[in-house]
Amino acid sequence: MPWDIKPPEVNIGVVGHVDHGKTTLVQALTGVWTAKHSMELERGMTIKLGYADGNIAYCDGMPTPDAYTTKEQCPDGSESRLIRRVSYVDAPGHESYMTTMLSGAMIMDGAILVIAANEPCPQPQTVEHLMALNILGIRNIVIVQNKIDVVDKKRALENYNEILKLVKGTVAENAPVIPVSALHNVNIDALLQAIEETIPTPERDYSKPPLMYVVRSFDVNKPGTPYDKIEGGVIGGTLLQGKFRVGDEVTILPGMRVQVGGAKSQTFKYEPVTTSIEEIRYGNLVVEEAKPGGLVALQTKLDPSLTKGDQLVGSVVTRPGNEIPVVKTLEVRYQLFERIVGARELVKLPPLQANEKIAVAIGAASRVAVVKSVRKDVMTIELTDPVATWSGSRIAISRRVLARWRLAGWGIIEG
Ligand code: GDP
Ligand code: MG
Repeated sequence: MPWDIKPPEVNIGVVGHVDHGKTTLVQALTGVWTAKHSMELERGMTIKLGYADGNIAYCDGMPTPDAYTTKEQCPDGSESRLIRRVSYVDAPGHESYMTTMLSGAMIMDGAILVIAANEPCPQPQTVEHLMALNILGIRNIVIVQNKIDVVDKKRALENYNEILKLVKGTVAENAPVIPVSALHNVNIDALLQAIEETIPTPERDYSKPPLMYVVRSFDVNKPGTPYDKIEGGVIGGTLLQGKFRVGDEVTILPGMRVQVGGAKSQTFKYEPVTTSIEEIRYGNLVVEEAKPGGLVALQTKLDPSLTKGDQLVGSVVTRPGNEIPVVKTLEVRYQLFERIVGARELVKLPPLQANEKIAVAIGAASRVAVVKSVRKDVMTIELTDPVATWSGSRIAISRRVLARWRLAGWGIIEG
């Protein structure tokens, strides 16, 4: 009997330096190549957040780790038992896309840190992504030592020691390190076992009002679709709490960005968008209910021109009447690193200055902000565009250093 596929129940981020094999690993775990955009294919680089669902199954009666598989059929021909379905969030590893990685990190329940064994460790974004996991409190981590097929035993051991040194004192200190070849599917079973043992599905609260972070938004219609066949706008993301059902009315906050005063105007405001859910999908699986855990796509009644090209990324979806503050000015209790972690150069970080421009990841939103006033550990910032958030949320702070946004610290929204 084929598996009874259920929606994914946990989001696992795949992070690490560019070219270390994150997208290849997601393919080994799911069969899906997440880099689908023309720009990504051209450059061979992940730019947007990708995601794909995969299965973790077990072959009863076999020794571990061989018993773990992503397939329905076991090596001896018997049928495996599906344990869990997982959404993998494929983060870009290039330093230019750090803000995208940070938005993705906000929806990760756990993470796989991919480190290529054939390069000296750590590379800049290996450290920067590890620090992002550290400050966002993502504690359930598996380290993949990838490209094991292109190094000898001596280099593999040396790299293993580099990894241990890197993670000492961080959130990944006790993370298992699994040698893998993502390209040749070597040791994927041991990785699946480590995921099962290290990244459990968190307890979910279904009784609270639904809240969803939007990480992608699309127009799924092909050009030239007749008007009566047009499908409504699709928003993709993950629920933090509560449930949505097909037919539910939803409000998207802060919503749609609209120009104020003429086509040439540079002034924008945001308007909340209310619509209803026509279909709920996890990958190809169509369901009646969306719950926390896993990347879900909600097809709405919205005009798809409102959702195309990721326009609604960073929004929060909830039910009408559930009042979420939409704010531009925030008071943040913050902490900065002593120096920049994501650059090859050693750069000390000066204290924050009034009027400095910073970038903040707030939920799945990334925003530019100006520091209005700053004290030792509390600052007031004004965002260029509003965001739907609540006090107590954790944010990541980036500063512009050596011509890039680089992770510089973190904070908690106080008001
Ligand atoms: P990402 O930037 O981390 O997503 O890296 P990709 O998955 O795009 O991989 C970068 C390059 O490394 C590609 O050419 C892959 O084929 C190659 N690669 C990935 N994993 C392995 C591996 O296990 N062994 C070898 N030899 N090459 C790999
Ligand atoms: Mg990639």
